[in-house]
Amino acid sequence: MEQLIENKLIKADKAFSEWRKVPFEDRQKLIAKAAEILKNNSEKFGTIITQEMNKPISESIAEVEKCALMMNYYADAENILKPEKIESEFSYSEVHYVPKGVILGVMPWNFPFWQVLRFAVPAILAGNTVVLKHASICFGSGNAIEEVLLEAGFPEGIFQNLEVSHKEVKGILEHHTVKGVSLTGSGKAGGEVASIAGLNIKKSLLELGGSDAFIVLDDGDLDEAAKAGVKSRLQNCGQTCTAAKRFIIDEKIEDAFLPIFIEEYKKYEVGDPMDKETKIAGMARPDLADELEKQFQKALEYGAEIILPLERISENEFIPGLIRVQEGNPILQEELFGPLGMVMIAKNDEEALKMANDIPFGLSNSVWTKDQSRQLFFIENLESGTVNINRMTSSDPRFPFGGSKASGYGTELSLLALREFVTARTVVGN
Ligand code: NAP
Repeated sequence: MEQLIENKLIKADKAFSEWRKVPFEDRQKLIAKAAEILKNNSEKFGTIITQEMNKPISESIAEVEKCALMMNYYADAENILKPEKIESEFSYSEVHYVPKGVILGVMPWNFPFWQVLRFAVPAILAGNTVVLKHASICFGSGNAIEEVLLEAGFPEGIFQNLEVSHKEVKGILEHHTVKGVSLTGSGKAGGEVASIAGLNIKKSLLELGGSDAFIVLDDGDLDEAAKAGVKSRLQNCGQTCTAAKRFIIDEKIEDAFLPIFIEEYKKYEVGDPMDKETKIAGMARPDLADELEKQFQKALEYGAEIILPLERISENEFIPGLIRVQEGNPILQEELFGPLGMVMIAKNDEEALKMANDIPFGLSNSVWTKDQSRQLFFIENLESGTVNINRMTSSDPRFPFGGSKASGYGTELSLLALREFVTARTVVGN
C-alpha cells in the first residue's frame, strides 16, 4: 500500500481515539453545521455532480438538498446509543453501544453525494471515523464532501477521501486499523469486497443492484401511475438502483394504461445536463451505454418486442426505449442500468406477484391499487426491502433502507443505521 494511504488510515485511527469520547449531542451540532453549508451551496456542489457524471443539474441540486435534509434528520435524532439498563439480579446489567473504529465506504457514481453521506453520517454520529473509496469518476465529489465536513468543524481525520483505484480496496480493508466496510454498487463488487471482509472477520454492509417491479392493477390511478412510473424509470438517465425497471400491468387495463404511459415516456427528451429544464441527459460513461445496448439486443434475441426503440444518439446518449418482455426471457434476471424499461402483462394479482418475485434482486417494489386487501396481499408477499403503495420509490431519512436477496444486507437511514457499525457490549456484574 502507498505510504500516503497508510498514513491516512493511521490518521483516521488516531482521530477515532478522540472522536469516540465526543458527546453525541456535540457530534450532532457539527452535522447540523455541515447540512447548512450544503444547503447554502447546493448549486455549487450540484455542478460538481453534473460535471462528473452528467446528471441533469436540477436533479444534482436536489440531491445535495436531500443530503442536507438527511443530515438535519440525524442532527435532531434521538440518541439510541445511550447505555441501556436491563433488569436482572446483578447490580450492573447494561448494554453499551461501542463504535468500531475506522470504517471504509466504497461508493458508486450514480448519486455521488447522497450515497456517501447516507452511509457516512450515521457511522460518524455513532462515533466511528470514515475513509472513502469513491467511484473513479467522482473523486471531485469525494474531496468536496471532505472539505464541507472540515469547514463545518469536524476534526481532521474524521472523514477522508482516498483517491484510490478499486484494486487498492483489498489492502485497505485488510489493514489492521479498518474495522468494517459499507459498499454501495454492483453485486460483483459487493461479493468481492464482502468476501475480503469475511476472511478478515470484519463487518460488511451491502447496498447492491435491483430490478424493481412497478405493478399497476386495474383499480389504480392510471394517470398518476404513468407519471410516477416514467419518472422512476428515467430520472438520473435510468441509473438508479431503486428505479422501476419492470412494469407489470394488469391485462384488464393494458389498453387504457399503455398509451398514457408511452406519452409520458416521450416527454423525456435528451438535453444539455447543465440546463435546468433538462429531464434526461447522457449516461455517466460510454462503456455503460455499450453495456445497455448489448442488453437491449439480448432481450430482442430472446423474443422481446419493441414498444419504443432504444436509439443511441451519441457515445453516451439514448432516446429512451421500452420493450415488452415475456416470462422466461433471461434479460429479466439482469439489472438494466439505463433508459430502457420492460413491460410485462399479468392475468391476475397472483401472476403479477409471481412475475415481480421471480428475479434474484429484492430492493423496492411499487404497487398501484386502491383496494386495501389487494395492497395487503402484495405487502405480505413481495420479496423486497421496501414496498411502496401508490407511490414511486424515493428513500426518506426517517425510514430504513436496504435490500433483500441479491440486493444486499444491512440497513441505511432511520435510527437503525446508527447501530450498524457499533458493538453491543454487555456490561454485567456486581
Ligand atoms: P460498481 O462498478 O460496483 O462500483 C461501485 C464502487 O465499487 C466503485 O467505487 C468502484 O470503484 C468499486 N469497485 C468496483 N469493483 C470493485 C472490486 N472488485 N473491488 C472493490 N471495489 C470495487 O457499481 P457502479 O457501476 O458504480 O454502480 C452501479 C450499481 O450500484 C448498480 O448495480 C446499482 O443498482 C447499484 N446501486 C445500489 C444502491 C443501493 O442503495 N442498493 C444505490 C446506488 C447504486 P471504481 O469506480 O474504481 O471501479
